[in-house]
Amino acid sequence: IESKLPEVKTTIFSSMSALAQQHQAINLGQGFPDFDCDPQLINYVHRAMTAGQNQYPPMPGTQILRQEIASKVSALYQAHYDAETEITITAGATQAIMTSILACVHSGDEVIVIEPAYDSYIPTIQLAGGIPVLVGMRFEDNRFSIDWDLLASKISSKTRLIIINSPHNPTGMTLCKADLDTLAAIIRDTKILLISDEVYEHMVFDGQSHQSVASHHALAQRSFIISSFGKTYHVTGWKVGYVLAPKLMSTEFRKIHQFNVFTVNTPMQVGIAHFMQDHQHHLNLSRFYQQKRDYFREALANSKFRLLPCEGTYFQCVDYSAISNQSELDFATWLTKEVGVAAIPVSAFYREQKQNKLVRFCFAKQSNTLINALQRLQQI
Ligand code: PMP
Ligand code: GLN
Repeated sequence: IESKLPEVKTTIFSSMSALAQQHQAINLGQGFPDFDCDPQLINYVHRAMTAGQNQYPPMPGTQILRQEIASKVSALYQAHYDAETEITITAGATQAIMTSILACVHSGDEVIVIEPAYDSYIPTIQLAGGIPVLVGMRFEDNRFSIDWDLLASKISSKTRLIIINSPHNPTGMTLCKADLDTLAAIIRDTKILLISDEVYEHMVFDGQSHQSVASHHALAQRSFIISSFGKTYHVTGWKVGYVLAPKLMSTEFRKIHQFNVFTVNTPMQVGIAHFMQDHQHHLNLSRFYQQKRDYFREALANSKFRLLPCEGTYFQCVDYSAISNQSELDFATWLTKEVGVAAIPVSAFYREQKQNKLVRFCFAKQSNTLINALQRLQQI
């Protein structure tokens, strides 16, 4: 077979998790909680299954879940999305990203991707026949930020799409209202569309609030906004997410969705919807994860690791240049094998190699896991 993605290997998340298991390391690499979800959520799913909700739901997802999402988005972001025509349930955010890209990128179109970037974006653009145009984030004084002038300079007549992600994996950076205004001004007189990957929308710290593209009218009109229940409800293995997009964009999205997965499993959708009716779980998530972030940061404050800011997500990036000169992949491998703590090299989020010395830890872990991992990291 002639590979369509010759440069692509097994994702770093799978390979680091396998390495962690092989060496019985504490896995702070791949992003997933090591604790379970609220038992009530499982009860609701169980109830849906025993009530016979086990056949195909409607193609865009169950009505009840789409309505719950519409209510949540309206309450949080003062944005109206029609459950019938503008909200589609997906098999996690990953499928939403792929389907959005396939829906709008034509062969030869350019897509602007801000690096470091989540690993699925670039291969998916390539599968759609698009050309990824990379814009590196600024990394100064130990802090990542987007250089909007640089991004604007990469726009051409072929630019079809820009992908943004806030809160940002892996850097933990968040976009503010001014960033969204700047982006809106840059694309105002163009037909460029936007994918806004907001899977960490409910993990924003230090009293800040998430700036959703949904609440930015000019941008929302041309955006696929993507979220994931896996992150919000501690159920990454369920693979249920959704996409919000204006009617015409949702119509194009659904044309592909129906031939990709057709629809997403029924009982999880019904269970999540009932849970959403009864619980405002998402409103407590930032506080919950901020405690873990603070604990993690305090424990490493006097170590040889230098902490980058973490404004959102459940990831903490650190600079290890005071410890080692190794490449990020070599260091993450060493850390897993010799120290017994797995991490993700930030280089995995770049197509072009950088000279940084950064790895990413996931702090979505039980206290005991964090205590044990931090003891090992403090000894370096
Ligand atoms: N986008 C980003 C930025 C992510 O971090 C992740 C999950 N790691 C995804 C998308 C994919 O989410 P899901 O597991 O729901 O497919
Ligand atoms: N999104 C998760 C992370 O960044 C992993 C997802 C995956 O394993 N594909 O760690």
